[in-house]
Amino acid sequence: MNISQAQQRINQLRQQLQKANYAYYVLDNPIMEDSIYDQLYRELQDLETQYPDLITDHSPTQRVGDSPASQFASIKHNIPLYSLENAFNLQELRQWQDRWQRQTPNIEQFEYVCELKIDGSALALTYENGVLIRGVTRGDGTTGENITQNVRTIRSIPLKLTLENPPNLIEIRGEAFLPLDEFDRINLEREQTAEALFANPRNAAAGTLRQLDPKIVDRRRLQFFAYTLHLPQNNQITTQWDSLNYLQSMGFLVNPNRKLCQSLEEVTNYCNQWETNRRNLPYMTDGVVVKINNYELQKQLGFTQKFPRWAIALKYPAEEAPTIVQDIIVNV
Ligand code: NAD
Repeated sequence: MNISQAQQRINQLRQQLQKANYAYYVLDNPIMEDSIYDQLYRELQDLETQYPDLITDHSPTQRVGDSPASQFASIKHNIPLYSLENAFNLQELRQWQDRWQRQTPNIEQFEYVCELKIDGSALALTYENGVLIRGVTRGDGTTGENITQNVRTIRSIPLKLTLENPPNLIEIRGEAFLPLDEFDRINLEREQTAEALFANPRNAAAGTLRQLDPKIVDRRRLQFFAYTLHLPQNNQITTQWDSLNYLQSMGFLVNPNRKLCQSLEEVTNYCNQWETNRRNLPYMTDGVVVKINNYELQKQLGFTQKFPRWAIALKYPAEEAPTIVQDIIVNV
């Protein structure tokens, strides 16, 4: 492929991905399967790596999500809500480890936290003196929508934290999602009233959160798993593992299937175990998020424009596709 052919294909891919992003993030109504989207996205990324001069700021690879919908007030996030780098098999997970270790050659001891990747919609919650004052969607990662009234209907989000001396300001992030039985119930109800069905629980959750009437949101029983804690400086929490336990002690629902791992081998076992077990869960997961446990090491590694270098999402293949994870385990 020469450069002008590459430019042509890049333009085509960007157009397709932009359309797909709009349908997915703004309309909550996807026009293609996630696995196809991921393939096209990878192709664009590979071409841009091969021809870095063709990268532009407005390429879908340079941004997270899409612009917030206009019916809610826009709120700029104090700290951006990044996306996650994807790995599609265990070899790519190993390559990620090699990359971050090259960046920090002096680190010999480290731990990973494995969490299930909940297939929902990310929220940023702000608590002032322990009281929920704001709930905002991820939006494009920099600016989200103020959906506080809707967030207040989610019963697993405490309106007041169970802490004796709550910090002045605290931000919690996590995933709002629809349990599978609730998703089925909503779609059945929509079928009976001849409304368009939701494509999947993730889009149903995102669509529900952006309902203008909080009473409708209240009737759809969204849930929320907390997974990120931003405290003011000089606090006692120094690891992701401790932050998850702290979130739980504050009254949040934290996914119980998390694991502290001492090696990539343990991570691999966790990923393989959950590739099968996830089918027994009452909610959707589309992979595993692997995070470096120690905040100090996270800080050293930092962020790219789009995602943290200290975390990665291992995505499971689509249900009907052949399993990649199982095949690659022998090489790890
Ligand atoms: P992503 O959903 O692949 O991963 C990042 C998100 O994971 C975070 O923002 C967070 O919301 C979520 N997450 C869940 N559990 C988590 C945990 N325990 N810890 C941290 N984060 C957790 O990335 P994205 O940028 O939101 O979306 C990209 C993906 O969306 C694509 O890979 C594709 O599969 C899908 N997509 C599909 C279409 C389509 O047309 N079908 C269009 C756009 C995007």
